[in-house]
Amino acid sequence: MNNFFQTNQNVHRKGIAIVTIHTQMQLEDDSEVLLSRLRPSRAEAEAAVRTLILWAGDDPAREGLAGTPDRVVRAYEEFFCGYQEDPAALLSRTFEEVDGYDEMVLLRDIGFESHCEHHMVPIIGKAHVAYLPDRRVVGISKLARVVEAFARRLQIQETMTAQIANTIEQVLEPRGVAVVVEAQHQCMTTRGIRKPAVSMVTSRMLGAFRDDPMTRREFLAMISPSSGR
Ligand SMILES: [Zn+2]
Repeated sequence: MNNFFQTNQNVHRKGIAIVTIHTQMQLEDDSEVLLSRLRPSRAEAEAAVRTLILWAGDDPAREGLAGTPDRVVRAYEEFFCGYQEDPAALLSRTFEEVDGYDEMVLLRDIGFESHCEHHMVPIIGKAHVAYLPDRRVVGISKLARVVEAFARRLQIQETMTAQIANTIEQVLEPRGVAVVVEAQHQCMTTRGIRKPAVSMVTSRMLGAFRDDPMTRREFLAMISPSSGR
């Protein structure tokens, strides 16, 4: 037990160090390097899970929970693997031989699991992503991977929606981008006001999807549940 608390205090001290250095530098690029250098060890992460089990009121040493910190840390590697991805790089390979195709490209019902950054509980939903190509198109699975790269981080839905749309706009430079995200937040369904069936819808429209009502209507009709899906 002594060892366990010892490790935890070290984590705590490192936490303080991050805050101090962060305010001194205030440079986004450097803070990213810094965060990766100050990333706790796997043992420290497992110790933190043991602390939460104790906080919940259980005994981390009992048989059923003995392997839990290891499993939780592994699960976190999956839940948050988006931090290892560069979403812009996913879109960097494009195709120009499209025989003048300049109509909407839409990928709808992209299922995703994310985690809310306020409670660290799941956000489960789907995203619809469309763009109007300007000469260049991208492999369709890449749009789903961009959604995945942003979903597998600590998120709020509004930010994630904007990040997906902005990345596509910046890298592909299309005539327009539309992103609609619908999701259920377990921080609302399992705690707080406990409204089980509530889902949240966010959207970001850029270029022609923002400026041209016809284009926007066409997109919304294609993703509406009445469109034969
Ligand atoms: Zn939340």
